[in-house]
Amino acid sequence: MPILVRFLLLLSFIYFSVSAKETNNVITIEDGKVHYILQTFKHLTGLRENRDDHYVLGIYGKAQDLISSFHKKVSTSTLSKKIIIETIDEQTPPERLTAIFVTKKHIDSIEVINKRFPQSLIITDGQVDREQQMVSLVVNKGQVTLKINRENLLIRGFKVSNSLLDFAGNREDLSSKLLDQENYLRTLFLNSQEQEKKLVKLNHQHHLSNNKLNKIKLELNDKIIQLQKNEGLLLQEHSQLKVLQQQKKNDQELINSNKISISKQKQLITTKQQYLEKQKDELLNLNENVISNQILLKQQLEEITKKNDVITAKEKTITSQKLLLYIIGTFTLVAIILIYFVFYLYKTRKRANKNLIALNDQLYELAITDGMTQLFNRRHFIESAQVQEKQLKRNKSSYIVLMIDIDHFKNVNDSYGHAMGDAAIIYIADILKENLREYDIAGRIGGEEFVMMLPECKLDVAIKIAERLRKRIADSEIIFQNNTINLTISIGLTSLNIKDKDFDQVLQRADDALYQAKESGRNKVVVL
Ligand code: GH3
Ligand code: MG
Ligand code: MG
Repeated sequence: MPILVRFLLLLSFIYFSVSAKETNNVITIEDGKVHYILQTFKHLTGLRENRDDHYVLGIYGKAQDLISSFHKKVSTSTLSKKIIIETIDEQTPPERLTAIFVTKKHIDSIEVINKRFPQSLIITDGQVDREQQMVSLVVNKGQVTLKINRENLLIRGFKVSNSLLDFAGNREDLSSKLLDQENYLRTLFLNSQEQEKKLVKLNHQHHLSNNKLNKIKLELNDKIIQLQKNEGLLLQEHSQLKVLQQQKKNDQELINSNKISISKQKQLITTKQQYLEKQKDELLNLNENVISNQILLKQQLEEITKKNDVITAKEKTITSQKLLLYIIGTFTLVAIILIYFVFYLYKTRKRANKNLIALNDQLYELAITDGMTQLFNRRHFIESAQVQEKQLKRNKSSYIVLMIDIDHFKNVNDSYGHAMGDAAIIYIADILKENLREYDIAGRIGGEEFVMMLPECKLDVAIKIAERLRKRIADSEIIFQNNTINLTISIGLTSLNIKDKDFDQVLQRADDALYQAKESGRNKVVVL
């Protein structure tokens, strides 16, 4: 220890002793300890100077003498802040204490105490291991010495002034370390400056972040609203999920039952596999048989191949014969079709001929008959009469000709219409037809005029026939469309005379007789 420090320490102690004597007369070791504690408070910075308006010194353990000495000394202290002394117990919050005084009795627990009070200045009553030491009060030969571990104090953020080191008298001991510590401090200081700059930057960023945060908050609010909506949807989906879960449960049950059935099927498969194994053995046996059969078959195949060649040769012959047959068949078919066609033509022609004959007959019928009355028409009647006349003349036979005309027929048309007139003509023609004998012929030679030729008929018979006709018609009632009329006819009658040259002369005479009948009052038969 340098002489100057020792000297200073001695001076301070003397001063301390003198001043103590002056006040209380008795200076105790505890007074010395209090003095050093107060000096420590005075020369140590970082004792939360700015935070609190007082210092709190906690006493760890019982130190009644120290406390009473403290109270005496505090009144004369030149410290800027008041010091409160408290006894530490379980409830004491660590951050409350500025410094802690650890009594000798608890000095072994210093490591635990250091950990429990990480912010406080720890002052021990007596020397402790250097690792744990901050400020220690060591009593040696009735004198109190202050021991300081500057390194630990710096770690806790306390700055140790040189005057304290001088006061403690251990500056020289720590001088080599001091330089390191100063360098360390400098780097710490530079670091702190950098940290401060970073802090400013961080503050700026924090400000920007706050703005962003506000924006994000607004967005978050929107999103919360969206989320609330989504929550509703989620609830719906949750209920759907429940349904699906139920379905899943059902499916699971189904799967379980399927699993059971699968295991059963597996068993079945196993038994089938065993059965297959057996069959496999059987198959192997069969395979052997097959091989032997294959050899047999090979031999048979060779035979078959030979036979096949024979068959192929025969097939060729058959093919050529088939071709011949096809040609014959085709010719036959063509011949059949031709025969059928000829036969069809023959039939068609026959049918056509038949139709033609029938048509000719119809045509002839139409050519010779009157369409309305079906009596001979004028031309055919005259032709037929001429043929008959020649025959009769050859046989020296005679004939009668009757000319018949309906009386006042014009009135019928005028009064009842042409249809009534037609019906009357047909009615009278039918009566004429009824009275014809086998060789008699009759024709319609004018509108309402008829003519009859009665071959080989005597005059008196002919007159009777004419009278009967006249009377029959005169007595008839002709009914047509709810109308009823009565008609009469006039008849001119004549027979063949030796002087007559041809039929026309006879016909003319009959017409003359008819004229006379009309002239003499109608509805009469006049014979010439
Ligand atoms: P008359 O007693 O003098 O013979 O008198 P009529 O009226 O019978 O004689 P007329 O010769 O003047 O008239 C004959 C009439 O007969 C004239 C004609 O209209 C009618 N007639 C002629 N052919 C047909 C026919 O086919 N159908 C009808 N409905 N009438 C006919
Ligand atoms: Mg007439
Ligand atoms: Mg007439």
